[in-house]
Amino acid sequence: MLIDAHAHLDKYGDVLDQALDEIEQQRIFTIATAMDVPSYVQLQTLGARSPLILPTFGIHPRRAPEYADRLTGLLPFIERSPAIGEIGLDFHWVKDTSTYPAQTKVLEYFLAAAREQKKFVNLHTKGAEKEILRLLERYDIKRAIVHWYSGPLNILRELIAFGAYFTVGVEVCFSDTIKAIAREIPERLLLTETDNPGGLKWLQGAVGMPVEIEKVVDTLGALRQASSESVARTVQENLVRLMDSDPWLKEAHAILSQSQF
Ligand SMILES: [Zn+2]
Repeated sequence: MLIDAHAHLDKYGDVLDQALDEIEQQRIFTIATAMDVPSYVQLQTLGARSPLILPTFGIHPRRAPEYADRLTGLLPFIERSPAIGEIGLDFHWVKDTSTYPAQTKVLEYFLAAAREQKKFVNLHTKGAEKEILRLLERYDIKRAIVHWYSGPLNILRELIAFGAYFTVGVEVCFSDTIKAIAREIPERLLLTETDNPGGLKWLQGAVGMPVEIEKVVDTLGALRQASSESVARTVQENLVRLMDSDPWLKEAHAILSQSQF
């Protein structure tokens, strides 16, 4: 079974059915991260269509300013969600620094909720890697996925020492920087993602379909001198460990544990 631990299925538009077919046919367990409330509502309907899709609620840092003053309204969605994401900070692509306090406020609200509700988180860290690490330490969030890490190697090593998991995505096929990062990630913390449909679109201009995850796994295999099968098995085992024994992840846990590695 393949693992796409960070994807935006609600953004597939008119190729959605094709994307869902690929997920079923190739058996790609997919964590469908939300960007905001409407996105999560849509993802929940998609989640109902396949047991391989796990929708999770979060407010993306780009969307944070709109929600910073109505955080308590988010609580019912957080409570309903089996994990938290996408959340985080973006101090790189988001140039308007006046939004940074709102981003931080929203992120801290989610981290506090994740700690209280004992849920794992899926994080966007672009340009704010160090700030995120400090917040994970402060909120004592041990179960964290850092998505598409591209920051400095010293902070990467600190995050590794802290025990964060990392999703390596489609950029590993093209970028030496991402390859170097992928080599640093220890086997027990390695996960895979596409961030599709936007991930590949950003890199190559084409809509990224779920099967792109196979190329990520193959590239990781080549980098780590391992077979694609053994990378896939490692990633699957890692996700099972990350899910721990969360009662709200029982179904996902069962699918992942019963499927052949
Ligand atoms: Zn994302």
